Amino acid sequence: MSPEILINSAYILASILFVLGLKMLGRQATARKGNFLSGVGMLIAIVVTLLDRHVIDYTWIVVGLVAGTVIGLACARLVKMTAMPEMVALLNGFGGLASLIVGAAEFFRIRGGTVMPEHPLFTATVIYLTILIGGITFTGSVYAFCKLAEWLSGRALTFSGQNFVNGLMLIATLAAGVLYVLTGDPQLALIAFAVFTLLSLVLGWTLVMPIGGGDMPVVIAMLNSLSGVAACAAGFIINNNVLVVAGCLVGTSGVILSAIMCKAMNRSLANVLFSGFGSAPAAAGAAGAGTIQGELKPISAEDCFGVLEAARQVVIIPGYGMAVSQAQHVVRELAEVLERNGAEVRFAIHPVAGRMPGHMNVLLAEASVPYEQLIEMDAINPVMPTMDVAIVIGANDVVNPAAARDKSSPIYGMPIINAHEARTVICLKRGKGTGFSGLENQLFLMPNTRMLYGDAKASLQGVVAEFKSLAAT
Ligand code: NAP
Repeated sequence: MSPEILINSAYILASILFVLGLKMLGRQATARKGNFLSGVGMLIAIVVTLLDRHVIDYTWIVVGLVAGTVIGLACARLVKMTAMPEMVALLNGFGGLASLIVGAAEFFRIRGGTVMPEHPLFTATVIYLTILIGGITFTGSVYAFCKLAEWLSGRALTFSGQNFVNGLMLIATLAAGVLYVLTGDPQLALIAFAVFTLLSLVLGWTLVMPIGGGDMPVVIAMLNSLSGVAACAAGFIINNNVLVVAGCLVGTSGVILSAIMCKAMNRSLANVLFSGFGSAPAAAGAAGAGTIQGELKPISAEDCFGVLEAARQVVIIPGYGMAVSQAQHVVRELAEVLERNGAEVRFAIHPVAGRMPGHMNVLLAEASVPYEQLIEMDAINPVMPTMDVAIVIGANDVVNPAAARDKSSPIYGMPIINAHEARTVICLKRGKGTGFSGLENQLFLMPNTRMLYGDAKASLQGVVAEFKSLAAT
């Protein structure tokens, strides 16, 4: 069998493992196995690529491998679970930068006469695409990282005519690309190359600028998709089939994830990318404020215990505040004491609760909450009226009834968990802070709602302590 056939067979095996792995990542119970299978696929792809006869010197490859392994291991150990969105943003950015460097290297190899492309038009087009998409991904991801890490303001930065300016830059980038692909003049090609490389880097930054920090997860999924497309184009440049396949898989899965998140927020991708959502929270708050009536009724940890002690059906609805206060472990403890007290406990998970896809699932899994107890929004809503108590832990937008009732609300149409339908609702939050959308929430003022104020972790520790003191007596 020729080495070519052997290598491509191994690449097909690696691609099958990627697809199987991706499928398994879709369910919590199989996610670890899926991650492992994809890892094995990547290992096969790397080893086979390194054995390729086209590799004539391993020095820089070994340097890259050692440096990458050390940095990767350090990040895996040091980066906190809550900082994962930033981490993913950076990784996407480096993926884009790597593709950009591959494109630039090939440009200079051809210019220097080291290689003569077999299909000059095709090669020039993929070099252009690799640099354009890689450049946008790199600076866009770095900006997203800075927003999430709070190195830069999370506020959407908008100015009038912003979309027009971005559109002009995009057109200039396309024009430079067409010139580069079609011109036979090396000097003109160099100028066009410099223009579209620079503009792609500027565009990454300016396209992310008008998007609010809370929408960064969608942006990151989109940038992840772009990094895949850039890698796919780079795969054509270096003639590596498995890079083309892996790039396509990343490209499509990023788009699917973005679509899922947009659907769960009832917003279009265009609205997320171009509307400047999050630039003026005060205005957003006013939009829904007219319909808010009633009064906030505080409850103490002791009284909360009294309500929960009598409850038989309890649903816990976690949100971003649980992540902020890192309350997941004490939430699991509360579920355990409730169960020991004879209650059936479920966790209702909204697809966009928190600030990244699967945020709540990850935190609850970290606290060893059994997967079977996590119930998706569509499954919990029909049984919500049978719940004695709904405990809303740092969730706000995902339980805001205005999304279902108030046509004037900016979040109207976003599917919510119907916490308000439970017999009693206990909401844990620190004060009168709004959620990501900046809107007031009628749930907190409803007759069946009680507010347990304070940091979620401390409040829950108070309630759990009450249960424990009961058990001790
Ligand atoms: P949310 O609407 O952002 O509300 C979080 C609430 O937690 C706030 O009202 C805050 O009130 C409270 N809180 C903050 N820190 C707390 C602490 N230490 N202890 C107790 N409470 C605390 O959260 P959500 O209901 O989870 O909704 C998520 C939002 O993010 C949605 O609007 C969604 O569309 C958006 N989003 C999510 C994703 C994703 O992938 N998950 C992506 C993009 C956008 P206080 O300040 O009064 O404490």
